[in-house]
Amino acid sequence: MKKYIGIDLGGTNLRAALVDVESGRVLFQKRTPTLAREGPDAVMGRMAELIEDVIQEADLEKADVGGVGIGAPGVLDMEKGVTIFLVNLPGTWPNVPLSATIERLTGLQTWLINDVRAITYGEFRFGAGSGVDTVAVFAVGTGIGGGLVVDGRLTLGIGGSAGELGHITIDFNGPRCGCGNNGCLEAFASGPAIAAMGMKAVAQGRTTSLGPLCEYDLNRITPELIARAAEEGDEVAKEIYELAGFYIGIAAGSVCAAVGPRRIIIGGGVSQAGDLLLEPIRRTLKERVVVMPIDKVDVVLSELGDNAGVIGSACWAALQAGEK
Ligand code: ADP
Repeated sequence: MKKYIGIDLGGTNLRAALVDVESGRVLFQKRTPTLAREGPDAVMGRMAELIEDVIQEADLEKADVGGVGIGAPGVLDMEKGVTIFLVNLPGTWPNVPLSATIERLTGLQTWLINDVRAITYGEFRFGAGSGVDTVAVFAVGTGIGGGLVVDGRLTLGIGGSAGELGHITIDFNGPRCGCGNNGCLEAFASGPAIAAMGMKAVAQGRTTSLGPLCEYDLNRITPELIARAAEEGDEVAKEIYELAGFYIGIAAGSVCAAVGPRRIIIGGGVSQAGDLLLEPIRRTLKERVVVMPIDKVDVVLSELGDNAGVIGSACWAALQAGEK
C-alpha cells in the first residue's frame, strides 16, 4: 500500500504529513507559514514545494506516494476540486482550482475535503470513532465545525456541504451568527460565545472570581480562564460551561434523532475544558432525546488532536484513489 500526503491549509500555517493509511500513523511532517495575504497562487506554490520537500526528506520517490488530500477551511466543491469560500483566508478564494493546480505542480493526484470533515474522517478511521459505524463530530473552537459519518461513510451531501453541525438552529429568534442566519449553535457555544458570557457576568457585577482573574480587563476573559475558574469552584464559571454544554446538547439531540450516532465526538480547542463541557452535553441528551436509544450514545473527546485533519485528508485521498 502506498503512502498518502495529508495537507492542512490553515489561515496561519500550512502543514503536510506523510501518512501510512493502513495504520493511520504520521510518518513524517513539515510545516511552513501560509502567508495567505500573498494570494492563492503563492500559497499553492508553497504547498507544492512543501509536498516535494516532504517526499524528499522522507527518502521517498513520487511513485511511492498514492496522492494528496487537502483539508481546506470552508466551502468547497469537492467534485470539481475547487474552493468556493474560505472565510479565514484573505480574498476568500472564490473558484480557485486547488486540486488541479497541485496536480499540475506535483504530478500527484489530489482531492479536496473540508477541514473539519477531514478531522471527522480521521477520528472515524483511527481515533475516537474507530470501531463504530456512525459518528458525529462537533469541533468547538473559534467557530463550531462538524462532520458526520453514517453507516460507515462520510456524509457529503451537495458538493460536500453536509455536516455543518455548528449551524444547526437551536433558537429561531436567537442572535445573529457569523454565517448570516439567526440562532445557530455557533452563536451560542463557540469559544468567543463562551468568552462573551464571562465578560457579561463581570460587566453585570456578578460575584465571580473571573473579575479578579482577568484583573477586571474584560478582554482578558477567555474560555481557558473561565474553565480555570470553574475548576476552582466558581459558580458563575461553572454555570457558563453548563450553558455551553446544554446548547451543544440541544443540537446533538437533533443529530441523534437524525442519524442515530454511536458516538458524539467533541474536539476543538474548547474541548480541553473536558468534563465541564461533556457532562452537561450528556445530561441534556439523556433528558431530551426520546425517539432513539440514547443510552447507546457515548459522548467522548477527540483522540487524534492536531493530527486528525492530516490523517483524515490522507485517508480520504486513499479512499478516492480506490485503496481503502
Ligand atoms: P480554531 O477554531 O481557531 O481553529 P481551536 O480549535 O484551537 O481553534 O480553538 C480555539 C478556541 O479554544 C479559542 O476560543 C480558545 O479560547 C479555546 N481554548 C483553548 N484552550 C482552551 C482550554 N484549555 N479550555 C477551554 N477553551 C480553550
